[in-house]
Order: sequence, then structure tokens, then C-alpha cells
Amino acid sequence: MNDMPFVAHPDLQRAVLFHGHYCPGLAIGYRAAIEGLTLLGTERAEDEELLCIVENDSCAVDGIQVITGCTFGKGNLVFRDYGKHVYTFAVRPSGRAVRLSLRPRDNAESDRLSRDDTASRILSKARDDLFDVREFTLDMPPTAERHNSVLCDVCGEPVMSTRTHRFGGQTLCRPCGEQHHE
Ligand SMILES: [Zn+2]
Ligand SMILES: [Zn+2]
Repeated sequence: MNDMPFVAHPDLQRAVLFHGHYCPGLAIGYRAAIEGLTLLGTERAEDEELLCIVENDSCAVDGIQVITGCTFGKGNLVFRDYGKHVYTFAVRPSGRAVRLSLRPRDNAESDRLSRDDTASRILSKARDDLFDVREFTLDMPPTAERHNSVLCDVCGEPVMSTRTHRFGGQTLCRPCGEQHHE
């Protein structure tokens, strides 16, 4: 990844390595993450002390995960399928939160510029030109649940107890349960 002079900051380099390429979406997520952490005066989440709600599943979310430590695996990344560049960050236990909503973009400008230039333009914009920012207090959802595994009576594979269902006196995992209903 030496041919990326525009990707100077090590944090952004980590995001590009994780995501696979440099693009406007990643730049939006990177900026939202940096601004969110800055506004909340907090750092990357080691555990679940920080929560992020994303309203799309675009390239941007990879930038969010790398920079904030709010990840799919940890359960402190909440996905809402609204198709919007809106990112809400909140800290536990207070629920102090900030919501960043991408301002309407100049589509003609994006069409004229290369992908790299569009991304770099996003990185260089002032925060308030890029996002509409709102601070509020979020009603915090519970932290990720951890449950014991039980064995599925059909495939024999361990499955989280809360993801099983009973069918004909058996405990089934979801895939096996779905086959039974066909
Ligand atoms: Zn991308
Ligand atoms: Zn099964």
C-alpha cells in the first residue's frame, strides 16, 4: 500500500487495509468516526463502553469499525437498514450521544472528480460542512448477551441456547429447524 500518498494518517491507512481500498464511502465513515470520538471526548472502544448505530451497510461502516472499535463481532455496532449516511455514537453508562448526518452532496462535483479525489475532498472538509451534528442523550440498549451453547438434536453442532427452538420434542438450530418446516 505504498502507492497511497493521499492516505497519510496511520489510522486511515489501517482503515484502508481493513476495507481493501480507498473510496469516498470509507472516507465518510472515517470522518464520522473521528468526529464522533472527538465530540464525545472519548477513545476507541476496547469493550462495549462505546456504542455506534449505523444506518447503512456501505463502505463507510468499515471505517467506523476500525476507528471506533465498535464492531460487528463485539456487538457494539448496531445496524439499521435505512440507507442513510447517519452515524450515532454513544457512551456508557451515561448515554451521552452525538448524531452525525451527512449533508447533501454535490453530485455534479462527484461525477467530475475521480474516486480518490472525491474521497480526499471528504477528508479535507470542515466538520460542519460535511455533517449535520446533533448532541443528545440516548436510551442505551443492553450490552451484548452471552449464553451457553447446547447441542442441536439434528446436526449435533453447538448452538447458542437462545437461538434454538423446540420441534417434535427436539432442540433444533435455526438451519435444521428451517429444513423441518419445508
Ligand atoms: Zn469502499
Ligand atoms: Zn442443527
